[in-house]
Amino acid sequence: MSSKTSLWKRIINYPKQWEISTRLTLMYAAVITILLGCACVASVVGMYYVIYHQAEMEMTISVEIALDKIQDPNFMTQAAQKPHEATEEVLLPGVVLRVLNEDGKVVYDTDKHFASVELLRDNFVMDKMFWMSDKYQLVRLKHFMIYYHEVPMEFKGRNYTLVFSRVITAERPMFAKVQERIVLGAALGILLVVLIVYLGIKRAFRPLRDFIGTAKSIEVSDLSARLEVPPSHDEMTELATTFNRMLDRIEEGFKVQQRFVSDASHELRTPVTVIKGYADMLSRWGSSDAETLEEGIQAIKTEAEDMQELIEKLLFLARADQNRQIVNKVPLELSELVEDVYKKLKVTDTRHTIELLRNEEGYILGDKVIMKELIRIFLENGIKYTPEGGTITIDSHAMPRYMCLEIADNGIGIAPEDQEKIFQRFYRVDSSRTKAAGQPGGTGLGLSIAQWIADNHDIGISMESELDKGTKFILMIPVIEEEV
Ligand code: ADP
Repeated sequence: MSSKTSLWKRIINYPKQWEISTRLTLMYAAVITILLGCACVASVVGMYYVIYHQAEMEMTISVEIALDKIQDPNFMTQAAQKPHEATEEVLLPGVVLRVLNEDGKVVYDTDKHFASVELLRDNFVMDKMFWMSDKYQLVRLKHFMIYYHEVPMEFKGRNYTLVFSRVITAERPMFAKVQERIVLGAALGILLVVLIVYLGIKRAFRPLRDFIGTAKSIEVSDLSARLEVPPSHDEMTELATTFNRMLDRIEEGFKVQQRFVSDASHELRTPVTVIKGYADMLSRWGSSDAETLEEGIQAIKTEAEDMQELIEKLLFLARADQNRQIVNKVPLELSELVEDVYKKLKVTDTRHTIELLRNEEGYILGDKVIMKELIRIFLENGIKYTPEGGTITIDSHAMPRYMCLEIADNGIGIAPEDQEKIFQRFYRVDSSRTKAAGQPGGTGLGLSIAQWIADNHDIGISMESELDKGTKFILMIPVIEEEV
């Protein structure tokens, strides 16, 4: 049973190995053959029906006229004198009439050369054509087909039988020829249609062949190849355009990844070089000189901390890129988060004035750790890019549907041309100015992380900044109704 099923499956699936154009052509051919076959059968049956029906009509009419006329004494007198003319009046051309008496003897015959009544009776066809009327018999005599009909009648007190016959073979040779032509025409039609369909499909699928060629040539090392967009406006054009757009995105993503890896390596090289330099210095003079030893250890510690921070940011972005960064959103009270971050930074930074203006309550939906990180990034930037003695303010207030969190500083500000770039990865504004703020500068990753967090929490970020005046970041955080 199972081997039978698998054989059947294999047979069914076999055409799937063929080219689509071959499969479509065969499908068309099958449909056309079935349609033309049906049309041929219908027309042949129709023609047969017309021929038999015609014969039947002629017989019926002849029988009706004959029965009618026989009752007419004038006609019978006339028929006795001029039988030939009377016959012509009663019978339609092709119909033969015999009159048999009670003994079965032929007393009247319109065609003496026609097959005898006995012969006709002996050759009835038992399985008549389905379209024939039950009233009539069909006789097959060698190559002849004959319609046969007997009608009993009474005339002057005596019983007679009228035997009507009509040959229907006369139309058959012409009919056979027509049949032959129809079949030949249908076969030629099928061939022509198949050829046209095959060429049409081949032509329609040609761009697909080119696509396959181009797609094969695309490598990770070279994503520049693009499909040629066919001039038509069909699915092929759409496929090529969509595929090219997909390649654009992949290429762009790949370039971003490459840039990210090379920037990250570059960023890591500096602290590693510094650490190695201090380690060399320590190994040479550190053991004898306490001051050098202290300076070296401090520098290595600072660099290691920077490096750790950088690696953590890189890992965050890598997880974010791969959708692996876990974001556990729960209802949070924003003022608590703001207060928490504010207090910690106030303790660690004594060189600036950090002020918490308004800190209104409001429930938001977010990941606690990540949301604190978001607030910290903006506050730390404010601290980093504001010279000693400057002020950083936090103002969090409720608005309809949003909490508006503003973090402002009166630091070095950001030039208009840099403002749209600062959210890009590794982008840092002119380091000499940054250093003027008394900070070594950051990694250029903080704001890209902030952007990712904001996007994941439907937070809108806007900024206002002026060189040497300061910067204000405004976060619009959607609120939820109340604590769940
Ligand atoms: P970084 O680690 O360098 O601070 P960010 O992505 O957080 O990286 O910031 C990108 C750049 O935007 C910074 O290098 C800095 O030049 C500029 N920037 C960010 N915040 C401020 C600010 N408050 N004032 C002035 N410049 C800023």
